[in-house]
Amino acid sequence: MIYLDNSATTAVDEAVVEAMLPWLTKNYGNASSIYSLGRAARVAVEDARAEIAHLLGAHPAEIFFTSGGTESNNTIIKSVLHESDLADAVCVSPTEHHAVLEPAHSAVGGGKGLYVLPVDADGRVTVSEVPAVNRRRTLVSVMHANNETGVVQPVYDVRQAAPDVYLHSDAVQSFGKITVKVDDLGVDFLSVSAHKIHGPKGIGAMYIRKGIDFKAHQHGGAQERNRRAGTEPVHLIVGFQVAARRAAADLEHRATVMMERTRQLREGIAREIPNIRVNTPETGVLPNIINISFLDAERLDGEGILQALDMAGLAVSNGSACVSGSQQPSHVLLAMGRNKAEALAAVRLSVSYTTTQEEIFSAITILADVIREMRG
Ligand code: PLP
Repeated sequence: MIYLDNSATTAVDEAVVEAMLPWLTKNYGNASSIYSLGRAARVAVEDARAEIAHLLGAHPAEIFFTSGGTESNNTIIKSVLHESDLADAVCVSPTEHHAVLEPAHSAVGGGKGLYVLPVDADGRVTVSEVPAVNRRRTLVSVMHANNETGVVQPVYDVRQAAPDVYLHSDAVQSFGKITVKVDDLGVDFLSVSAHKIHGPKGIGAMYIRKGIDFKAHQHGGAQERNRRAGTEPVHLIVGFQVAARRAAADLEHRATVMMERTRQLREGIAREIPNIRVNTPETGVLPNIINISFLDAERLDGEGILQALDMAGLAVSNGSACVSGSQQPSHVLLAMGRNKAEALAAVRLSVSYTTTQEEIFSAITILADVIREMRG
């Protein structure tokens, strides 16, 4: 099986697994316990917090562990609008992940408003429209990089255009692939996750800028300085730390390899498969993602393509969701102005730094064969 779905999740690095194991079997203490087993766990958690903070250019007191990107996004949006009551409105781009769109939709009402920023044909927010939402009690949420197309958003330009708002960015796809520093982005809140960078599933973090009166969305114990209740999963936190450290130390090399692989995919697919539209622009994108629509969609649909590719030994995905048995077109591609057919017959190929050239060439052959056969 050739795995080109690394934006969905990645294999956990061996070194990460090794670093995690002692915290499951030997040093299994609760980080809140006062005896030595607990104190050792506490030291590990705080060490990981300090390192992840450093990688993001943040202070350790600004980092809070969560179960991943979904929880970070939900907590930030819901708390800012409700528990913390810092904003009366939330403003999102239409290409956000559902883990931003759904909480934004569910958090509005009761006097709170929702605004959707326009995007261009590449899916980038129209920065000239941003000043219109620059109000003090507004939360703006613009992702750092899109999970379907890899397009990097001008988050800092959004901050410049809206200096008064609370600004959140979902950096789940960008963290560990390109430089992510909170001050370079100008954000007040940020979401990151471990399993996209060869770390374990079920762990992530939120950055909350110092001085913001942020109240918990999830209640219980006093963990994470009362911002996120729940016993800290020390092994996952250590795994996240090691995955993030390795990604940062090897950032340029990994990016170079991944860019070469996506370039090979782009060229090979354009050469072998007629009648396609590449939805990922060539610049201002993550190194690891390429998204393609097949233009004769009356004979092709995303789900059918994925199934045929799976049978032929290639794992990829698309952004369209299967809701109650019927295929829904990708909301990202629709927001970019693609028609319904293009938004349905699309695939996302996402490589890792471990993806080989041979895998890329085989993947191009499989894709070309499957599409040729499906087109009849
Ligand atoms: N945000 C983006 C942009 C993502 O791509 C994902 C995962 O697909 C998430 C949020 C959710 O992250 P997690 O799987 O850690 O909950």
